[in-house]
Amino acid sequence: MKPKDRPTFKPSLRAKTWNPEIETAFLRKWQEEGIFKFDEKSEKPTFSIDTPPPYVNTPIHIGQAYTYVWMDIFARYKRMTGHNVLFPMGLDKNGLPVEVQTERIYNISMHETPREEFIEKCRVILKESGDRSLDAFKRLGLSCNSWSLEHRVGGRYETDDPEYRRLTQETFIRFWNKGLIYEDEKTTNYCPVCGTTISDAEVEYKEEETVLNYMRFRVQETGETVIIATTRPELLCSCRTVIFNPDDERYQHLGGKNAVVPIFEHAVKIQPHAYAKPDFGSGLVMMCSFGDYGDVWILRELNLDPIYAIDEKGRMNENAGQYKGLTVEEARKKITEDLKSQGLIVKAEKIRQRRPICWRSKNPIEFVPMKELYLKQVEFKDEILRIADQMEFFAPESKQILVDWINSVGIDWVISRRRYYGTEVPLWYCKECGYIYAPEPGRYYQPWREDPPIDKCPGCGSTELSGEERTFDTWFDSATSEAYILAYLWDKDFFGKNFPCSLRPQGKEIVRNWLYFTLLKSFLLFNAAPFKNAWIHNHVVDEQGRKISKSEPETWIDPHEVMTRFGSEAFRIWSGLEGNITRGDIRCSFERIKGTSKFLTKLWNIARFISSFPRASEDYELAPLDEMILASLNELIMECRRGYEEMNAFTAASALRTFTWNMFADHYVEAGKSRAYNRGGAFDPRLQRGAWFTLHKCLETILKLLAPIVPFITEALWLEIYEKESIHIQSFPEEPPEWKHEAANLLPRLVEFDNTIWRYKKSEGLALSQELAPSIYAPLELKPLAEDLKIMHRIKNLVFGIPGGGRNVEELAEGIFVEKLA
Ligand SMILES: [Zn+2]
Ligand SMILES: [Zn+2]
Repeated sequence: MKPKDRPTFKPSLRAKTWNPEIETAFLRKWQEEGIFKFDEKSEKPTFSIDTPPPYVNTPIHIGQAYTYVWMDIFARYKRMTGHNVLFPMGLDKNGLPVEVQTERIYNISMHETPREEFIEKCRVILKESGDRSLDAFKRLGLSCNSWSLEHRVGGRYETDDPEYRRLTQETFIRFWNKGLIYEDEKTTNYCPVCGTTISDAEVEYKEEETVLNYMRFRVQETGETVIIATTRPELLCSCRTVIFNPDDERYQHLGGKNAVVPIFEHAVKIQPHAYAKPDFGSGLVMMCSFGDYGDVWILRELNLDPIYAIDEKGRMNENAGQYKGLTVEEARKKITEDLKSQGLIVKAEKIRQRRPICWRSKNPIEFVPMKELYLKQVEFKDEILRIADQMEFFAPESKQILVDWINSVGIDWVISRRRYYGTEVPLWYCKECGYIYAPEPGRYYQPWREDPPIDKCPGCGSTELSGEERTFDTWFDSATSEAYILAYLWDKDFFGKNFPCSLRPQGKEIVRNWLYFTLLKSFLLFNAAPFKNAWIHNHVVDEQGRKISKSEPETWIDPHEVMTRFGSEAFRIWSGLEGNITRGDIRCSFERIKGTSKFLTKLWNIARFISSFPRASEDYELAPLDEMILASLNELIMECRRGYEEMNAFTAASALRTFTWNMFADHYVEAGKSRAYNRGGAFDPRLQRGAWFTLHKCLETILKLLAPIVPFITEALWLEIYEKESIHIQSFPEEPPEWKHEAANLLPRLVEFDNTIWRYKKSEGLALSQELAPSIYAPLELKPLAEDLKIMHRIKNLVFGIPGGGRNVEELAEGIFVEKLA
């Protein structure tokens, strides 16, 4: 190219490369402009997202960062498609984790510390860690409506806020008045470490190695010795019966006889029961109260009174005789030694066993009798399944997790907890007659520290009323988040118009508690499903597929480090490009994030090139090449819309990368740039303007389509190259009908042709810019692009159609030939 032909075109985009340091400036700008604020007066349809309030006592996790970015993508897409988006930020602060942390940091015990003082210490910790979490979520670029705590639609909320707790208490009082709550002493799951009852939904399982001891029992009537295997010899004192399988030939003769329990010497009945598995241990099973769920079910079924051997501190009680006061572990060790020394253990084998553990402390749970408050749920299972059908699930198969859980519910929901940092159960008790007083809803009650709102007992007139001291299961708070964000407390009109909430996004591991309990409460309060849609996601794992956890340093990927090293945008484009978290677990590493972020550099380069040209809006003519890429752009818009509508950002992100990089930049821009520059003045100026129009139309559309995924870089490019008004309040691109024609089919043929020619030049040792002397035969369909192809590849003689017989040609690819030069 001669110097005078050098374009006078200079990029209007000044910076040569994307600089993540400007991200924070955009965060400030967006906040100042208030563009994501929820507008209560808007005429647009509301799209409401029940953003999961993260528990704040631990730093934000890479998996959380990933899933909140996806929620933000949904919010931004909905905003661009004409919705008034309710995307609140909440923080979960109630419950056990902060209590445990407070005990550890201050080296105190909750139950031995004055309640006020303990709560205050929790608050200090929560404030600090809450602020840290908010900073991290802000830094990710979430377009939440507000970052300040406000009692209004779209305001940030916290679950320990008196307003939030008022709602929790109101729902309880309504259930109480409808007779849906009762108190009962039942065998409950109990975590000795957390010091509280926990619901079935809070029980997890851990497979661990344990010892199966084969012990000698004596048959009372005959004196014969039978062998019984158990993993929990410390519960011998609580043994209530011994069972064998009705089909087990070995033990038929024992039916109706009694077995004498070693050490404790009490006799228990031996009976057939299908729960005994002939191939486990010796086939004879002792049923204790209680070693596991099997014990609980069988004793209940056989109507045998339990002998509780473990107290709520996890220690053996007086029923354990000489083992009283020992912890469960200590007692197991001691009694095993005693049995061994008396020759009562004939064999010990190591086995792996699934043990129920507490989901918070990961400690084995025990079964103890406790008087607790229950919310009825078993009788409503069919109704809850019915309202679950009113919701759409993404991915559809995730619905099964919910259905399976509902079907497995066998006991009412234990909602009271013996903890301090939670929403108080709003009840007072008459010391004289036992009358239970539930106050009117309307304010937040703290019965442990305040007088009842009535002077005397409505039952007997006594003035001696004492306040309840227990708190709620934190899921009882969380299971009304959708009602809280839809202003149930403050604006019944708004609530009426916008319930059910549009979307619940959440992890698969909390379907059985958060999603299920929200359905239960919504059914009992509103007789309807709480959501129109539920998006259920999987987990982010490390390169080896291991769970990412702070306690496993080799797996740990700190989102703060990612954002500091690569910027939020690099993390966000990785989140979009690396896979579909609705369908499976996602692998993450610094390398992957760095690798996918190359697309940002490419995007910047393309935009900078295009910014050299004016944006033609009139008096232009489209060449076939332009029509081809615009028609393909149409297909891209449809594909992106489909992905966003299906709540799958991956579909949109990967289609965008392929189009932008591998189609638009590599082929259209390469073929069209000569016309855009009009080197040598060979082109009609109207066609030159057609290239300008097309370049800008593609870039502008790509930016808008990408904006939900990468809001920073698209905003930077948009503001500098196009308009002064944020890209995030622009409309999502529409497909203009005039671009929907066959021209899109040309693109794959063009790609194939270009690649073939480039390959050929390389194999012949020619530079890409070198002229091709031999004739090239191209497929007939490409004829409309003849001029572009000739200039792009510097082909002297381009012929369309299969060459005639007898010609000296060589096939390079399907339909593409080169003349063989002697
Ligand atoms: Zn626990
Ligand atoms: Zn009374």
